[in-house]
Amino acid sequence: MSTDRNTADITHSELVKQGLQGITANILKCKLCQLNENATNKVIMRGSERPKVLFIGEAPGKSEDEAGIPFCGRAGKVLDGLIDYMDLEENEYAIINTVKCRPPNNRKPTQNELRTCRPFLLAQIELLGPDVIILLGNTAEQAFCVSSLNWGEAMIIPEGKHLMKLYHPAALLYRRALMEEQKKMIDRNRDLWKKIQ
Ligand code: URA
Repeated sequence: MSTDRNTADITHSELVKQGLQGITANILKCKLCQLNENATNKVIMRGSERPKVLFIGEAPGKSEDEAGIPFCGRAGKVLDGLIDYMDLEENEYAIINTVKCRPPNNRKPTQNELRTCRPFLLAQIELLGPDVIILLGNTAEQAFCVSSLNWGEAMIIPEGKHLMKLYHPAALLYRRALMEEQKKMIDRNRDLWKKIQ
């Protein structure tokens, strides 16, 4: 199938049919919202294409925009520390964001930007097929859920998968108490990813 159309014309199932490479091609040529105008790089994903755990962040920041890699700056160091704490191997996780272009001055993506980028997010989730989806912060929750979740309380979603909201790594920078709380939430939920073969 051609990837030459405007992304707005492409349905979810067509995007899924194109696979991860097709989604990447569509993201790279996407001009559906104004965020693409200042993007140095589109920031698509990092990690395994068959992850047990999928982390969904908010939006690329300056380092990510420059490198084209999610969570490669200061918040990324915190996230990498949490991934270590979760005992996840390199091939067991992947990281994506709600929007693929950096919002100016690191502001939060608007509702319209979240809505515009959602087809990419949903197609990525379907193709990556994680057992556990971890929403990093409220923006990821808004992009993915209709109702709100409690921090660190996993819920079952279709096909026996699990969904959980944790604090965004940037919120944990220099906040020891919040980091301790996050680690307790991880400890309470370890079985979700440790029991999966
Ligand atoms: N914060 C995010 O939410 N995503 C990134 O990729 C980097 C920082």
